[in-house]
Amino acid sequence: GLEGPLAKLLDWADEVKKLGVRTNADTPRDATVAREFGAQGIGLCRTEHMFFDEERIPAVRQMIVAKTLEQRQAALDKLLPMQKEDFKGLFKAMEGYPVTIRLLDPPLHEFLPKEEEDIKSLAEEMNISYDELKSTVEELHEFNPMMGHRGCRLAITYPEIAVMQTKAIIGAAIELLKEEGQTVIPEIMIPLVGHINELKYLKKIIVDTADAMIKEAGVELNYKVGTMIEIPRAALTADEIAKEAEFFSFGTNDLTQMTFGFSRDDYGKFVGDYVEKGILEVDPFQKLDRIGVGQLVKMGTERGRSTRPDLKVGICGEHGGEPSSVEFCHLVGLDYVSCSPYRVPVARLAAAQAFLKNK
Ligand code: PEP
Ligand code: MG
Repeated sequence: GLEGPLAKLLDWADEVKKLGVRTNADTPRDATVAREFGAQGIGLCRTEHMFFDEERIPAVRQMIVAKTLEQRQAALDKLLPMQKEDFKGLFKAMEGYPVTIRLLDPPLHEFLPKEEEDIKSLAEEMNISYDELKSTVEELHEFNPMMGHRGCRLAITYPEIAVMQTKAIIGAAIELLKEEGQTVIPEIMIPLVGHINELKYLKKIIVDTADAMIKEAGVELNYKVGTMIEIPRAALTADEIAKEAEFFSFGTNDLTQMTFGFSRDDYGKFVGDYVEKGILEVDPFQKLDRIGVGQLVKMGTERGRSTRPDLKVGICGEHGGEPSSVEFCHLVGLDYVSCSPYRVPVARLAAAQAFLKNK
């Protein structure tokens, strides 16, 4: 952990700041580092990262290319125990602080088998022909995956995935509670929502699954269901969305991408020219664009709280650890920022400076 004058400075910062500082973490290791740096919870666990593990990727691929529910369920059954251990590790590392877990948000193409070899072995494992699998993989090809079948859209097509993840999250929480008496308040977060009905549909599945487990276990466990706000339509209709969401987290990476219409993956090819020629002052993926993207953050927060005054609102895009963006989050009245573990100390300091500068 931090020691000496820096630790003291950051403790002072914590006494002053109004914004909470959480971390983005997908592994117990990252979570532990972030705790040492003073993070008070996980603001974003990107569960798709957990699925790239070599041991899991065959099951993940099977889950995606499955043609029948039976095939998909077989893959999910393999993943469930591993996923439960993932969450147990995170809950333990966070020592009772809130942990926001986001349902699977993959660019689907990153999971598809590409090499002939991989297709061959997957076909064997699934007991289907090479040609059949090859054509399924081709059918799943998307021209613009970042605007395609990702986020909540995937769980709407395949609700079994949301059920598996809910079972893993709630199962991990129940086990920890029973085995070690450790309380956790899992926050289940739905990605890429643009319409309230997406949230409604998935929330019902999550709540039905979770409540049945909690009842059966005979424990008291509080959990929350909330949403990312990362599509402009979600910010514009935040008053509607807040009817179903118990918390919001702004995904300013996607929100910047979709508000500017700049591809997150390709903008590097021209943004340097934009800055050099004075068209943009800064790279908007690095520093939150206050008057454009920031307006959506402000509007989304206000509209959300007009429906639900106690709505908890955070940010988990890369901007959550950048000082001027942190100041903006303070000004808008967010409850917390969430950033990568190594940016946590800077975010704590920036949050205190934001308060002192604007009081
Ligand atoms: C975001 O879009 O800002 C976000 C936090 O999610 P991801 O970067 O995983 O898309
Ligand atoms: Mg996103």
